[in-house]
Amino acid sequence: MSSAYDLLWKLRGCLLGCLALLAFSFSGTSLSVDNYVSALRMQAATRAPSDTITIVTIDAESIAQAGEWPWPRERFATVLDNLNVAGAGLIALDVDFSARSNASGDAALLQAVEDNAGWIVLPAFLQQDFRQTNTPFAELADVAEVASVNVELSRDGRLRTYRRGYFYKDTYYPSLGGVLAGVAVGDTRSFTLDYSIASDLIDTISFDDVLNNRFDTSLVAGRSILIGATALELGDLVSTPHSPATPGVFAHAQGYESLIQNRALTSPPASLMILLGMAVLLAGNAAARFLKLRTLFVLQLLLTSLTLVVPFIVQVFLPLSIPSSGLLFAIAWASGAGIWNAFARHRRALIEQEASYLTYMAEHDSETRMPNRRAFLSTLDAARARNPSSTLMVITFGIKRFGELRGAVGYANANSLIQTVAERLYETGLGPAHFHLGASVLGTFMEMDSGSRREDGLAKVRSALSQTIVIAGQPLHIDLRAGISLLDPDTKDGDEALKRASLSLDHSRQTRQDIVQWGDTEFEDPQLRLALLTEVSAGLDRGEFHLVYQPKFCTRTGVVLGVEALMRWNHPAFGFISPDRFITVAEDTGTIDTLTLWAIEQAIRDQANLRRMGHGMPIAVNMSARSLLDTSLCRQVADMITRANAEIAIEITETAVMEQPELAIRSSHIFRDAGIKLSIDDYGAGQSSIAYLKRFPANELKLDRTMIEDVLDSERDQMILRSTFDLAHALDMRVVCEGIEDIETFDVLKELGCDVIQGYLVGRPMTLAELIEHSRARSHPPAPPAAAPLLARAGT
Ligand code: C2E
Ligand code: CA
Ligand code: CA
Repeated sequence: MSSAYDLLWKLRGCLLGCLALLAFSFSGTSLSVDNYVSALRMQAATRAPSDTITIVTIDAESIAQAGEWPWPRERFATVLDNLNVAGAGLIALDVDFSARSNASGDAALLQAVEDNAGWIVLPAFLQQDFRQTNTPFAELADVAEVASVNVELSRDGRLRTYRRGYFYKDTYYPSLGGVLAGVAVGDTRSFTLDYSIASDLIDTISFDDVLNNRFDTSLVAGRSILIGATALELGDLVSTPHSPATPGVFAHAQGYESLIQNRALTSPPASLMILLGMAVLLAGNAAARFLKLRTLFVLQLLLTSLTLVVPFIVQVFLPLSIPSSGLLFAIAWASGAGIWNAFARHRRALIEQEASYLTYMAEHDSETRMPNRRAFLSTLDAARARNPSSTLMVITFGIKRFGELRGAVGYANANSLIQTVAERLYETGLGPAHFHLGASVLGTFMEMDSGSRREDGLAKVRSALSQTIVIAGQPLHIDLRAGISLLDPDTKDGDEALKRASLSLDHSRQTRQDIVQWGDTEFEDPQLRLALLTEVSAGLDRGEFHLVYQPKFCTRTGVVLGVEALMRWNHPAFGFISPDRFITVAEDTGTIDTLTLWAIEQAIRDQANLRRMGHGMPIAVNMSARSLLDTSLCRQVADMITRANAEIAIEITETAVMEQPELAIRSSHIFRDAGIKLSIDDYGAGQSSIAYLKRFPANELKLDRTMIEDVLDSERDQMILRSTFDLAHALDMRVVCEGIEDIETFDVLKELGCDVIQGYLVGRPMTLAELIEHSRARSHPPAPPAAAPLLARAGT
């Protein structure tokens, strides 16, 4: 049902065209066009008359000579006799003899007709409504041939067709032209008059001349003769396509000539022409769908010309008049459809162009013209759709020091810098395409088929991280960092994989690593990151922060020399958040100072509590580099400690000291002057040397876990540690080794000269309550140092 409707809808142009063609074909317009074109055709190629007929004209001259009208019938009798004498063939009179005139005249005429019996044709005017018919009066009709002078005018009142004869009350009357041309009895067929035959060239003789025997008999001998009125005042006129007023006698002559010259034109049936038009219309409509406008135009021109020329040629050689208006209409309609289609196609093309431009814009970076994040996502999803079981390595590259580089090459060259880096990555065989994801971030992906392992991909990435490119004639060294994630069948979509790779890249930036892979480190989700960024102060106000304490254990005596305060944030939504995460964020957002002050205050309070319980001990508080470099804050901290008469030490990381040594040293002097002990934390993780740290008034050197990791296996590491310990001692610093989890390491370090041990082996970070409990237990029988897990697990 709906498919039939669809078909109709598809063919609506054709159907409409066919209906229009039908309407046109049956309209007056079609007929007018055909008549007009037919008239043109006749005018274009004229033919001579047959010279087998002569018209005797009752002209103005003859009337003038006679001096009266109607004429006495003796005149006609004389003329008939004269013509006969000259050897005329059939003589037809287009003169009304239906009424009798005077007896002598009628008798003379009757005599002349009788004398030429069989050679005289007299007219009958047949009224089709049967009311009144003019035939020659009875005696005349008996001796003469009677022919019809009727003519049928077309709708516009012009004479176009002619009949060979008529039936009237079961009697057959040939037409005047028909009888002269010798049509068969009973033949009433109508035909189109061929006006290309120049009837004005038919020989004529004036009636008066025939009457007076003043004529060229060669124009009469053996010819048919038509006698009729040509004088305008007699009013026997018809209009033809070529003349508004032609004497009726010429119209009959035209009929005669058309018949005698075999030019009685017929037309193919209208239904055939309509079918032909429909065929043209359908073909044209079909062609219009795919032909170009220009081709259509040429085709239309050609077809139109053919439609005009072919009927013309046919009509010249055959008595065939082809009405071409329907065809012309069909061609015009098909051309219109063609133009319409061409415009519709053009509009569609424009829309498509516009759409693809918009897609291009949406999927490309406006500056570098490289495909962007959106394009990356659709490429990833497409690659995945092709091979759903495959694993893709999604890589984001960040250009290190991009701001600096951009400053160096100029903003105008920054885009080509990014493009060049992308090209270089491509040349190293990294990924099928590169995408510009953010100001200095590029992205690509690699298919991890069974052949290429993840390690190979990583090696490729690693080897591409350092490049030298030339921008504006200037060689530039570019370092990249990479964030990587895998898009495997377990990953939700490309978006998730790309997010993970981007987070990994962020993480690599924060942690100053070259490559970070998603999954290798714990990543915070963006919600958490937001909380970290905005909620530190609020968390402090809500009391979500507290300190835990990890003991520092003397290797020689087994005595707890003090504790390190480590901050804990118990977030209502995210649970325990590691200080490693929120400290760096607090440094970036500036809330670190509040945290530092809070930690100092809290440590002072906790220490006071411990003292009250009889377990007073030194507490070391960590101070971040940012806070250390703020001398006024350092003064504030020092004030708080001295005012409270607390025994608080400060741990500062080695990198803080290294970054801005002068400031750090100035701050450290503030603490030393206030009698506050300083500890250098994470020694060995950075690049500093002990010799350099000499300038720094510290009491304690805390070795980073990485320095101790391989101490059991590596004699070299043992050597380094021993000399480090010695040097520290020479500088009046005691040495703390952190992160000790097993007794073997403990023993080796003790043996090498380490003073203090901190680690899960001797005590996990614990809450204040746990610390009090623990201190109470220890104050009784002092346990031997090697009596493993010395302290209980506590709130990490
Ligand atoms: P850190 O100062 O080096 O602190 C030692 C870290 O090592 C602590 O992690 C501690 O829980 C952990 N640790 C102790 N013993 C062991 C062990 O045997 N094995 C292992 N694997 N780990 C051990 P935590 O508490 O997560 O703190 C991380 C870092 O956050 C600290 O490193 C410190 O730099 C910073 N931080 C902690 N609290 C504060 C604070 O109040 N202020 C500032 N500015 N930074 C703090
Ligand atoms: Ca520390
Ligand atoms: Ca440390």
